[in-house]
Amino acid sequence: MGSATEWSPDCASALKQHIHLLNYLAWQSKPIKQVVTYEDKEAALAALSKLSSLPPIVTPHEIIKLKSSLRDAALGKAFLLQGGDCAELFSYCADDPINAKIKLLLQMSLVLIWGSNKPVIRIGRMAGQYAKPRSSPTEMVDGKEIPSFRGDILNGFDPAQRHVDPERLVTAYFHSATTLNYIRGQLTSGIADLHNPLDWDLGHVQDEGLQKKYSQIVSNISESLRFMRTIGADTSGQLQTVDLYTSHEGLVLEYEQSLTRKLKHPAGYQSSLSDDGKGWYNTSAHFIWIGDRTRQIDGGHVEYFRGIENPIGIKVGPSMKNDELVELLDIVNPNKEVGKVTLITRYGKDKVESMLGPHIEAVKKSGHVVVWQCDPMHGNTHSTPEGIKTRSFNSIFSELSSALKVHKEHDSFLGGMHLELTGDAVTECTGGSEGIEEEDLSLNYTTYCDPRLNEKQALELAFLVAASKGA
Ligand code: PEP
Ligand code: MN
Repeated sequence: MGSATEWSPDCASALKQHIHLLNYLAWQSKPIKQVVTYEDKEAALAALSKLSSLPPIVTPHEIIKLKSSLRDAALGKAFLLQGGDCAELFSYCADDPINAKIKLLLQMSLVLIWGSNKPVIRIGRMAGQYAKPRSSPTEMVDGKEIPSFRGDILNGFDPAQRHVDPERLVTAYFHSATTLNYIRGQLTSGIADLHNPLDWDLGHVQDEGLQKKYSQIVSNISESLRFMRTIGADTSGQLQTVDLYTSHEGLVLEYEQSLTRKLKHPAGYQSSLSDDGKGWYNTSAHFIWIGDRTRQIDGGHVEYFRGIENPIGIKVGPSMKNDELVELLDIVNPNKEVGKVTLITRYGKDKVESMLGPHIEAVKKSGHVVVWQCDPMHGNTHSTPEGIKTRSFNSIFSELSSALKVHKEHDSFLGGMHLELTGDAVTECTGGSEGIEEEDLSLNYTTYCDPRLNEKQALELAFLVAASKGA
């Protein structure tokens, strides 16, 4: 386990001298898991100082707009679709991968709107998902023990780049800002304009029954859009563009801290944390979440997260106890703001049935109203005999179906899904209509961390969830 000593108290006070804005440092007095040791402390301070002087990447207005949409998801009036890479690389900050992901999230959301009859909130694991928690600080590569890859924000995947380089913190900011700038530009330039026909290539679906089922959904969606255009229903301009928010795991707290600013609340927003018209906003992304490895009640991450105005997520794995879950909610959301917290459950297909029900009941009894989001990826990872990390499409859908069922049984509802996906034609997860087998995984296996659904698998999952009408 790491300790807080790296940044507190000496570094914290040095940091304060460097950075006038940093006065919310309570998290540094708590134990910090996955802590980063910067050998070059001067360079680290310089990087954080630079970050603290750069403008916000996102604004309070956008953050609060998302929080208010998530309130709808918590109340069963909207559905949250969140997805993107496990580890976003700086090199994904390029035209094609960004466009492919925007299009995929848009298409999936249309399918889910069709299936659920509810608005869909889209959040990308994009524009900042650069930090990865690791189970071990080192790994063996070619018979040599080297530091593990911790994400582009800290070190490089190349074995020669595994030392932590603080300049990467600043590089992360610029890649994040550039990615979001391009997303914003594309959204206002028609990439999500539903007046244009979408390309729904279903040629890979060999099963005739499935091909028919999916084609029927696509034709229903296309027909509805045509009808709305014909009758001129789009008076609000909603067919021209959509919202796409950004998110990442809030892991490297010194990075998150440097982009946390005391800013004026948007007009009309009543904060439950402060009443002086201002609040602490994490301006690195609209939504950040606490990982399953860093959610300790008395840890630095929970301490940091409890102070910000942003909507937040908490990963809930199989080791979470019922009372621990409620205690966590009480700490990060003492005023029980509806939709402030998204619980991202990731038990695995064999554990979801026994664990989700008691968690739902415990949260209900506590009076907290959360967004229940299913992450069917992280509890369903396994390695092939050749040592390739993969996930099967069937296991992923199985955890989702079970989550839908358990929520229904407990008079609750699934408020969203959280996926690792890419718009590229990768072969990282097995199954789906293309019939990817374990032998095919090496064809185009490009992830630097966990296996992602490819475009066709992700869309198919949306079809299946929509068809089960449970969303
Ligand atoms: C992740 O979302 O990539 C991740 C590391 O998840 P978890 O914290 O649930 O293991
Ligand atoms: Mn992952």
